[in-house]
Amino acid sequence: MRAIQMARPEPGAAVYVEDLPVPTPGEGEVRVRIARAAICGTDRHIFHWDPSVAPMLSPPVVIGHEFCGHIDALGPGVEGWQEGDYVSAEMHLVCGRCRACRSGNRHVCEHTRIAGLHRDGAFAEYVVVPAANLVRLDPAVVPPHIGAFLDALGNAVHTVQAASSIAGRHVLLSGYGAIGAMAAAVVEFEGAASLTITEVAPGHLERARAWAAARADSATPIRVLDPGRGGLVEEVRATTDGGVDVVLEMSGAPAAINSGLELLYPAGEMVLLGIPSRPDLLVEDFSRRIIFKGLTLRGVVGRRMFATWEEMLGLLARGLDLEHIVTHRLPLRDFHRGVALLDAAEAHKVVLDPAQTD
Ligand SMILES: [Zn+2]
Ligand SMILES: [Zn+2]
Repeated sequence: MRAIQMARPEPGAAVYVEDLPVPTPGEGEVRVRIARAAICGTDRHIFHWDPSVAPMLSPPVVIGHEFCGHIDALGPGVEGWQEGDYVSAEMHLVCGRCRACRSGNRHVCEHTRIAGLHRDGAFAEYVVVPAANLVRLDPAVVPPHIGAFLDALGNAVHTVQAASSIAGRHVLLSGYGAIGAMAAAVVEFEGAASLTITEVAPGHLERARAWAAARADSATPIRVLDPGRGGLVEEVRATTDGGVDVVLEMSGAPAAINSGLELLYPAGEMVLLGIPSRPDLLVEDFSRRIIFKGLTLRGVVGRRMFATWEEMLGLLARGLDLEHIVTHRLPLRDFHRGVALLDAAEAHKVVLDPAQTD
């Protein structure tokens, strides 16, 4: 079968192959014929052999973890699923036995393994996944080019969901990459009092402004600001009655985290999904910004299994529009072009089609 395989443990060693054997599902597993897959920031980090992900991979391994498709084979002992079922899957494989799993927090399992990193993933014609990880999709609600990136939408929905509420509150979202763009759409859909988006990359800024313009008649006023141009704090305070109630931090940029803390109104909340590039982070004016304002800070990773999946499928069924997130559709073998587009911040979601060969 066709696949994108990280062939060697070194930067840029992802290769397009056409002769991999089709995998066989084991006990409790199913094989899915992939309809569409999507490139994620993690795939870029793998491709560049970034130290943040490299230790998790033992090449050769098929990468990719965002996909949808149809079941085409059942392993022994699988019940409740049939060939032809339209599905996606949670690719975080958890132990079910650790204290996190047993207390209902499987998204932070101590022993998480990720398909597409620790074992073969979805940039291929077929992928094998545990049946317990499948999520059934309604083709009338989730077309394949959207079903391709539910994993990432789940990060966005989980981040928004981690705030105590959104409706009627002033929200600041820092970082308009693909997940930030999806979170922005959810915030608007949920009826925030206002949404302020900050972004520094020119391509992402342009897409944020285009989306805000397209949503000009929304009940939620949407402002897009480039913090590099100065005056951010004054402008946001003036338009949010003194400060925002919720910050969704999607960038991992220390400057964005610090200005988000500064811009939060007392008793506000910051939800942090963006990962700083360095292990340490300096919070300036810590006592005044966090303690004396009585803020709540919460980190978010992965998707709640499977509450976040239920929530995002509900949002899509109610009409959440994500068409603008898909900026490129390429055949699987053009993976490298997709990574280059993402590296240059010229794309949001690059959707790959393994069946397209020309
Ligand atoms: Zn991903
Ligand atoms: Zn566990």
